[in-house]
Amino acid sequence: MISRRKLLKSLSSLPMVGGLFGTGLVASAGTPAAVVTRDYFKELGVRTFINAAGTYTAMTASQMPPEVLDAIQYATGDYVNLDDLQDKVGERIAELLHCEYATVSAGCASAITLATAGVLSGLDKDKVAQIPDLTGLKSEVILQKSHEIGYAHAIRNCGVELIFVETRKELDKAISDKTAMLWFLNAGINDGEIKYDEWIEVGKKHGIPTFIDCAADVPPVENLWKYTKMGFDLVAFSGGKGLRGPQSAGLLLGKKELIQAARLHAPPRGNTVGRGMKVNKEEILGMLVALELYLTKDHEKEWKLWESQIQLIHDAAASVDGVTAEIHVPEIANHVPSLNVTWDQNKVKIDGEEARARLRDGHPSIQTVGGKDSLGITSWMMQPGQERIVARRVKEVLEEAGSS
Ligand SMILES: *Cc1c(COP(=O)(O)O)cnc(C)c1O
Repeated sequence: MISRRKLLKSLSSLPMVGGLFGTGLVASAGTPAAVVTRDYFKELGVRTFINAAGTYTAMTASQMPPEVLDAIQYATGDYVNLDDLQDKVGERIAELLHCEYATVSAGCASAITLATAGVLSGLDKDKVAQIPDLTGLKSEVILQKSHEIGYAHAIRNCGVELIFVETRKELDKAISDKTAMLWFLNAGINDGEIKYDEWIEVGKKHGIPTFIDCAADVPPVENLWKYTKMGFDLVAFSGGKGLRGPQSAGLLLGKKELIQAARLHAPPRGNTVGRGMKVNKEEILGMLVALELYLTKDHEKEWKLWESQIQLIHDAAASVDGVTAEIHVPEIANHVPSLNVTWDQNKVKIDGEEARARLRDGHPSIQTVGGKDSLGITSWMMQPGQERIVARRVKEVLEEAGSS
């Protein structure tokens, strides 16, 4: 029998295994202790922190549950045909989410680019290879001005021009034989004049596919089927935000033919605008398992936990003289109990930026968000128990600034 030491030595000589272990993924999935004694982030001099901010890409968003890590570790043990796996996982996701078809993309932004490329090319392989050169193809995507928050750049990757409208009248006027798609930002619903029904109706009337970006829009869980049911042809979610799948994965849901066209732009095919948007088998399977877990979890219980965590931090902050703490739940996008802390700067003599810096530079490091004069906190990306540390540190930082 091969000795444990020999086994570990031969494992670590495989670049693939080293790479996988190096992500720290395996550590929490219960592998031999000898493999996980290394403190990789510390070795690299990368500081870790408590995430009291939320699902921010820059802060590496969410943490994958052990079941997802198990799936990732399982997937790496065999070779499969990438398209086969995408086919089967897509079918399974479509079944779970009651939609016609689905695929795993490399995040929501990748879903936007692939979907745009797909509506431009259809199933024509020459057109696929031609993009971002749009000679002879449609070349415009319409969206509401208030829905442009930067992520629409993923549409422009395909060489497409964005056409901005504000009213229904402008929308009707903007539509032409160049219009490839009507793009909607779910988080912008209250900012734009044109609402869901009208957007979908216009798309159907002209035979132009409608797309909705729902990247950060679970919870609630029902959103996963709400917008395909509503009539949007294409719906996209981030996999690594509320769903807690791999950060570099996402979901594209909707009409079968449109998603098949989108997939023509995705790996393994080269010579496409989406070749760089690879999702490996580990991430594809991890995404599916994260989704299954999300669908079966006790959402009410989780919500109550978040509420109690936020209440605890609220009470600690509000106990400081001159500080006001308010609990709120954003209606759409990051729809979770959230805390906004403000203070009388005559009493607590720091601004929001300094408060965030002190939390970030303290021990342990805590990341928060907020404006010039506020602190923003959510608990849903913390590990249970960390809310107590955050409550204590927020109180300390504000108190110290108050007594100085
Ligand atoms: C996060 C986000 C994206 C990008 O999602 P990724 O999964 O990181 O690619 C796109 N749109 C909106 C509204 C987002 O919040």
